[in-house]
Amino acid sequence: MSHSVVYPGSFDPVTYGHVDLIKRAAQIYDEVVVAVAINTHKKTLFDSEERVDLLKRSIEGIANVRIEVFSGLIIAYARKNSIKVLIRGLRMISDFEYELQMALTNRRLDETIETVFLMPSERYSFLSSTLIKEAAALDADLSSFVPDFVEKRLKELLKV
Ligand code: ADP
Repeated sequence: MSHSVVYPGSFDPVTYGHVDLIKRAAQIYDEVVVAVAINTHKKTLFDSEERVDLLKRSIEGIANVRIEVFSGLIIAYARKNSIKVLIRGLRMISDFEYELQMALTNRRLDETIETVFLMPSERYSFLSSTLIKEAAALDADLSSFVPDFVEKRLKELLKV
C-alpha cells in the first residue's frame, strides 16, 4: 500500500520553512502532495499560479513531491484523492491553538483522516510568509529565508 499525504497551505510565498517540512514529509511517506489553497477569504500577494510556480521551483530535486491546487475543504480534497493524512507545521506554541482547532474540526468532518504535525528545523521555527513580506518591503536581505527567485519576485511586487 502506498502512502500519500497532503500538505495544504497558502504558500504566499513559499519559504525555506515550508521546504524543510516538505523534505521531512518526503522522507517518511511515499508521496507528498502540496496543495495550494485558491479562492480562500485570505487576500494573497501572489496569485495562485505564481504560488504554484515558486513552489515547483523550490522543490526541484525532490522526487516524490507534487504541487496541486485546491479550493473548498481540504478534507474533501483528501477524500477525493484517497489521502488519509494531512501534514501541518508546528513552529511555536503560538501555532498550537489554531492548528489544534483546525485538526479537531477536520477530524469531526472525517474521522478517517488524521492530521500529522511536523516541526521544522529550529533555524526556520520563527519564519512565516507574513514576516517575509514585511521584511521584503523594508528591503531586508532574505537569502537565508527564501530562494533567490522568491526574493526577487517579492521585491518586484512590493516595488522595493
Ligand atoms: P495557511 O494559510 O494554511 O496557514 P501557510 O502557507 O502560512 O498557510 O502555512 C502552511 C503550513 O505550513 C502551516 O501548517 C504552517 O504552520 C506551516 N508553516 C509555515 N511556515 C513554516 C515554517 N517556517 N516552518 C514550518 N512550518 C511552517
